[in-house]
Amino acid sequence: ESLTVAELAKKIYREPSEIIKKLFLLGVMATINQVLDKDAIELIAGEYGVEVEEEIKIDTTDLEVYFTDDSAENLVERPSVVTIMGHVDHGKTTLLDSIRNTKVTEGEAGGITQHIGAYQVVENGKKITFLDTPGHAAFTTMRQRGAKITDITILVVAADDGVMPQTVEAINHAKAAEVPIIVAVNKMDKEAANADRVMQELTEHGLVSEAWGGDTIFVPISAKNGDGIDNLLEMILLVSEVEEYKANPNRKAVGTVIEAQLDKGRGSVATLLVQNGTLKIGDPIVVGHTHGRVRAMVNDKGRRVKEAGPSTPVEITGLSDVPQAGDRFVVFDDEKTARQVGEARSQQALAAHRGEKSIVSLETLFDQLKQGEMKDLNIILKADVQGSAEAVAASLQKIDVQGVNIKIIHSGAGAINESDISLAAASNAIVIGFNVRPDANAKRAADAEKVDVRLHRIIYKVIEEIEAAMKGMLDPEF
Ligand code: GDP
Repeated sequence: ESLTVAELAKKIYREPSEIIKKLFLLGVMATINQVLDKDAIELIAGEYGVEVEEEIKIDTTDLEVYFTDDSAENLVERPSVVTIMGHVDHGKTTLLDSIRNTKVTEGEAGGITQHIGAYQVVENGKKITFLDTPGHAAFTTMRQRGAKITDITILVVAADDGVMPQTVEAINHAKAAEVPIIVAVNKMDKEAANADRVMQELTEHGLVSEAWGGDTIFVPISAKNGDGIDNLLEMILLVSEVEEYKANPNRKAVGTVIEAQLDKGRGSVATLLVQNGTLKIGDPIVVGHTHGRVRAMVNDKGRRVKEAGPSTPVEITGLSDVPQAGDRFVVFDDEKTARQVGEARSQQALAAHRGEKSIVSLETLFDQLKQGEMKDLNIILKADVQGSAEAVAASLQKIDVQGVNIKIIHSGAGAINESDISLAAASNAIVIGFNVRPDANAKRAADAEKVDVRLHRIIYKVIEEIEAAMKGMLDPEF
């Protein structure tokens, strides 16, 4: 850390004038209020035989503090980061491949695409970054770990199949994360394609097309033969323009791990999405609970690069351990600090693992409300049939307890599944099952994530329980 001459003098019990003289003899001109860099401090300390013990003043528990906003004048436009979601078999993978194949090779002749978990394409001279893992599992895992990386969601809906359960899940994931949605109506090449039906069905979920007076962009496409893809990319650019995604390339990089694994030859290999700043070869870095120095960087075209700016995905080597998808990374000034922070965080992680994760449960709800920690009670509601889900939802909405809102972030028919649990964990929600139970995977996930799941068969019991919890009058469970 840096000190002024006066501060340093005080620390080592000398007169400032003496320090200034010493510095002068060492070839450094200094005044009393001059800020000394680390080298100068070490030089002086060496002269007096003092060990410089570096204090880490930074908060090692929370890397988020480094994700501070830069002042407006440092910000420049950055590419948007896009995730593709939708029901199984509606064409997410085909769309990702189709965009990559048509666009990547166009821009970078001779480039061999490399699957690193994300890729960039160029449309009308502007870059767009796509996360290469279709589906909302990845999306939610990231969000669960506190990482917000997606700017725009493409909701793929097959025109011959219409809105399906995972379409609705995807919508609710995107809404919970407050990410704008563009609808890609896919498989328009098929005989049975019916775009109007898709538009009609999505209206019920709050996505009303511009043609019908709403503000959701719908783009008819065929992922298979490439129709409409340019139009879709242009719509992404349009949304980016409106939202004005910005970052400061002239600072130390921060961002998020997209994926990571152990490679036999190269050791720990991680794909990082730079969200702010510029990542450079040699940078000392803390990634989740691991650390190191960026040894080599490879981009999505398989090329070695020396630096990566905002919204760029790069695969790096040089970490001491394998981080997890969704982990945050932060570049530090020097390797020593990075190592200290990395090691401290790894210790903390071990300790925290033994402790308990705090997540909302009906038992602790009232305390959390009282302490002002929460204003919304987020609920995920599953029922045997759509009609009863709606009936329970309507009754829940009628509960009126001062200072707290009931927010149903997802409801639907069917067993409680793993996706419900991960959405609950990411959104700090409780799950209510009405005449349904969690399936085996959901049960396991709920235990692991400590998600409170409540099962009921009678509507007024649901209401009674929630109301009691909100008022702090819940009977303890035995
Ligand atoms: P995902 O599960 O959402 O990733 O769906 P896939 O991309 O794997 O696609 C499921 C099936 O639909 C595959 O057989 C694709 O070839 C097919 N498919 C995807 N897009 C289109 C399209 O635009 N037109 C037609 N006819 N078939 C498509």
